[in-house]
Amino acid sequence: MDEATQPVYRRVLLKIGGESLAADETGFGIDHGALEILAGEIMEARNLGVEIAIVIGGGNIFRGAAASGLGMERVTGDYMGMLATVINSLALQNSLERMGIPTRVQTALEIQKVAEQYIRRRAIRHLEKGRIVIFASGTGNPYFTTDTAASLRAIEIEADVIFKATKVDGVYSADPMKDPNAVKYDRLSYLEILEKGLKVMDSTSVSLCMDNKLPMVIFNIRGKGNIKRVILGEHLGTRVGAKI
Ligand code: UDP
Repeated sequence: MDEATQPVYRRVLLKIGGESLAADETGFGIDHGALEILAGEIMEARNLGVEIAIVIGGGNIFRGAAASGLGMERVTGDYMGMLATVINSLALQNSLERMGIPTRVQTALEIQKVAEQYIRRRAIRHLEKGRIVIFASGTGNPYFTTDTAASLRAIEIEADVIFKATKVDGVYSADPMKDPNAVKYDRLSYLEILEKGLKVMDSTSVSLCMDNKLPMVIFNIRGKGNIKRVILGEHLGTRVGAKI
């Protein structure tokens, strides 16, 4: 069979956890090499002619819930987490632009001197012009996660699909790094994720996708060429609510 060369999506939202920017298993910090590899993968995918929006997490720098467990006020911790996503967004923007890809960062929290404010119509315009749009600061509200921000933004910009990048090659019945009997799901329904309590995305973000019939593909972003392959319609990882 001939290899596919045409994207099966017009506009995608890619959700990347902050840990993808880290060098090693500690999942902490921003590593130049990891950033370059990630930006290269995104560039390849974008060169297929598909519009790409990105939501990046902040877990490699700060997580509000974890800090709150250690005694910090939750809301303060969450704002710190949101600011961490801004740092990651600027880092990714810088790497993409060094590769010649026009990029805009839009932030849900106003930080005028650093990035544009999130304006839906402007974001869509950027995408139509071939720019990659990185959404920073999550939803702009405490008690949410960047997974929920990804679902929300994907629905707002009318993306065809949300890609959730993970460290393993899909959704498993248990943690495959710890349980040798864990089985991988090729397809799942939104309800199965919620009912089985599978650790894919948090329940708010899954519910948002379910209510708005937004398909999700969960796959390993660390495999070379994987973003491109999924965009070309290859069955990698786990599909949720998707027709293809
Ligand atoms: N956060 C928040 N509201 C949002 C998105 C994120 O308060 O809408 C905070 C929250 O503290 C979270 C942190 O930002 O722990 C980093 O985001 P997340 O944990 O989703 O990052 P990821 O795990 O994807 O790296």
